[in-house]
Amino acid sequence: MGWHFHHHHHHLEEKSTERRMPTREIFARLLRYLIPYKKWIATVICAVIVTSATGIASPYILGREIISRYILRGDLYGLQTIILIFIGIQVANWAANTIRMYGLGKMGQSLLLKMRADLFSHLQDLSFSFFDRSDSGDVISRVTNDTDAIGEAFTSGLVQVASDVLSLFMIVIVMFSINVQLSLASMAVVPLIVAVAVIFNSKFRAAYRMQRTRISKVTSKLQESISGIREIQSFTREKDVMKDFKNANLENFQANLQATKVWGSFFPTIQIIQALGSGIVILYGGWLAFNGMLGPIEDAVGTLITFVMYVGMFFGPIFDLTNFYNTVQSALAAAERIFEILDIKPEIKDSEDAVEIPPIKGEIEFRNVTFGYKPEHPVLHNISFRIKPKETVALVGPTGAGKSTIIKLLCRFYDPQSGQIMIDGYDLKKVKMKSLRKQMGIVLQETFLFSGTIMDNIRYGKIDATDEEIISAAKLVGAHEFIEKLPEGYNTKIGERGAGLSVGQKQLISFARALLRNPAILILDEATSSIDPYTDLLIRKAMRVLLKDRTSIIIAHRLSTVRDADRILVIEDGRIVEEGNHKELMMKEGLYKHLYEMQFKEPETEAASLSAISGER
Ligand code: ADP
Repeated sequence: MGWHFHHHHHHLEEKSTERRMPTREIFARLLRYLIPYKKWIATVICAVIVTSATGIASPYILGREIISRYILRGDLYGLQTIILIFIGIQVANWAANTIRMYGLGKMGQSLLLKMRADLFSHLQDLSFSFFDRSDSGDVISRVTNDTDAIGEAFTSGLVQVASDVLSLFMIVIVMFSINVQLSLASMAVVPLIVAVAVIFNSKFRAAYRMQRTRISKVTSKLQESISGIREIQSFTREKDVMKDFKNANLENFQANLQATKVWGSFFPTIQIIQALGSGIVILYGGWLAFNGMLGPIEDAVGTLITFVMYVGMFFGPIFDLTNFYNTVQSALAAAERIFEILDIKPEIKDSEDAVEIPPIKGEIEFRNVTFGYKPEHPVLHNISFRIKPKETVALVGPTGAGKSTIIKLLCRFYDPQSGQIMIDGYDLKKVKMKSLRKQMGIVLQETFLFSGTIMDNIRYGKIDATDEEIISAAKLVGAHEFIEKLPEGYNTKIGERGAGLSVGQKQLISFARALLRNPAILILDEATSSIDPYTDLLIRKAMRVLLKDRTSIIIAHRLSTVRDADRILVIEDGRIVEEGNHKELMMKEGLYKHLYEMQFKEPETEAASLSAISGER
């Protein structure tokens, strides 16, 4: 039977141990995840009992029955029967253990599944302000590692410990019922086992923690060098980067070696202690036997064999038990980190009495809107403006003036501190956001393309669009031509963030995406990156199509946009400082004229303006 040892305990990494949630509450919430598995829990408990009982019966049957009663006494007929029983018990042990493992795996994995699903859907609901505050690496680690830690702690921690306690308890009862003195002698090595378990557990933990930090350093160096490869090569820093990586790699190697050393010394240590335990049992038991205190010699031999085997079964459970506290602590810490995220209330949520907004005309009004990402630092000061349906309005102003913030408020990614934002006379706070966002199209400066085909990416604008609709949207914005030329046309797979496409091409795709939605309100943050004159022309054409017949609000970076806009709002330091169309604003000697001369340049002809812009910006 031997002993069992579960090295995966050490996957649990302790982070901060300080806890803010009461332990009882964390347990209660974890248990709630197990409610749907009542049947499985009952099955696993039965399986644990059967596994332990059959495991503990085996040494008894082997020593006291098979050897003493039948072999040494020459009862061959009885031997056949008892061997059949012995085999039956082994089969039962095997079956119960299989069920136990499967049931545990099933519960642990289901717990993970549910927890990750909950976390993910909760993250989808959280407001931008949450993502502003948090580090995405930390969030990812909570969804992956911390859930893992809980699954582990649950399967190999909690349940394992329960069955360990049960086994130890049963072994002790069986031993004492056979012979009290010999039982006490067998316990002589227990303090030694506990000491070794405590020492090695702490060594394992230290080694494991070291491995984790070192490997994450290797990964982060690697990731940094891949993301920054252009900078590394252009500043010819390859050597330094190599040196850094070499060090990280070497340190990782040393940590692994250290872990291997700990592991390597662990098993021989156990073997020595087991040998010692067996030695004590045999010596003392032999002495007892000579003095006739273990009954007839046939019984004495069987008893000794049984006891030697039991001593071998001490180690695993004791080892698990000494680690139990840590297992539970790290699982609780992990659970707390998960519940912390689940407990964050989305700041922006439809109010109870929110209404579905009917199809809108696209009138936008900001009424005395004041907003700051941190309430004490307002970024927009008492802004008011109104945009008529189907009007095209350009926002212009220096970097950091608050243009993007206006757009984010309009999408209700944040709520203003004071003032109101109205669409078609509906206060944003009083409508169901989904019903409104369905009627809005957003094109951001940096187009985010998801991994998948071009077709899928355009379809993102309208999930039930047919292929024909998608192609016609692509044609309207002038993306069809270049898509057709790609190796697999619309079915070309694009890499992460649209690798393999130029900036201009990505923009055209995002235009098609927005157009497919046919939104009443279009929000556009114009890209600033330079594009070749040809693509630039394509984009200008596409913009005309895109802006037609809908309310559009654009953060403008191109000359053609500001000139074509019905109205321009000039923003400075969170205030509207000028307003009017291009001609009107050029007549004033104000900020717009200044910006225009700096930013948009005086064009001679259209073609000259194009190359000027693409060259300068
Ligand atoms: P613009 O689009 O005109 O360049 P923004 O609206 O992006 O300006 O920014 C306005 C101000 O708000 C800037 O001072 C900027 O630093 C600040 N800001 C923008 N986004 C955030 C954010 N997520 N958290 C905190 N401050 C922000």
